Amino acid sequence: MQCPSAIPHFHLSRSDKRKPHAKWRIHGEHMTCRIKVACMDRRLNPYLDVHQDGKTITYRTAGGNLALIISEVHELAKAHDATEIIVYTHTDCGFAKVVYAALSGEKVDDAIYKDLVVPFLKNGLKNRGLEGIEKENAEMQGRTLAEMEGCRRLYHRECRLVGIETINPPQLKGERSLVVGLPTKRKFEDIANIIGVESGNTYFLNANRIDGILTDIRIAVENLNIKDVRLFQDGDSQCKAIDRFGKAIHDTGILGQNANIPVIRV
Ligand SMILES: [Zn+2]
Repeated sequence: MQCPSAIPHFHLSRSDKRKPHAKWRIHGEHMTCRIKVACMDRRLNPYLDVHQDGKTITYRTAGGNLALIISEVHELAKAHDATEIIVYTHTDCGFAKVVYAALSGEKVDDAIYKDLVVPFLKNGLKNRGLEGIEKENAEMQGRTLAEMEGCRRLYHRECRLVGIETINPPQLKGERSLVVGLPTKRKFEDIANIIGVESGNTYFLNANRIDGILTDIRIAVENLNIKDVRLFQDGDSQCKAIDRFGKAIHDTGILGQNANIPVIRV
């Protein structure tokens, strides 16, 4: 896997050429990645964009949950000597509300229950309310980060529980959209502008493997009732990936058999 932050111009040092997992270098300097993982929630977009500095690769999942993407995040961190990984969860989170509803006895979709609710089946968690589940979610992601091994330059790993009211979130203006794509270095506002949707209305899910976010797409469509789903292809080197994403989403039937899922490529 190539570190997207190294794409512009790179060369391999002579010694690296003999190694099976050569590290990408730019101007003789070892390129490293910063990785961020954040909830898909539209209100986080401007907050995350401040840190989209061209060296940061951002994943988005429901609730900032690492469980279904941890293997690819771990691979990326090891292969490219990530120096930091920060996970952003937040208050008033739709994902936490789905978990809370399920723990309170409400019926939720089987896949959502199996993939996302089961890790929260702990005695007493329901009694701690939505706030307790949001706190547990942040702590759970923090524990997952702490367990990652073999990342020799990873000096900073952290999960931040963002108080949504403290970040001056954008107001919802009209219909919400969901944009599904690969992990990205772009600002989310830029992606929204390219696609022609309002950033403040748009949820983002980003992973390299569709299995990591398929259940999250289900939450967006079934629990958040988002009807407008689009695929975004950033660069053409992995153009097949988005086609596979589209097929996998279509196969679930989440959007209905005749659903059109537009693909926007840049
Ligand atoms: Zn959320």
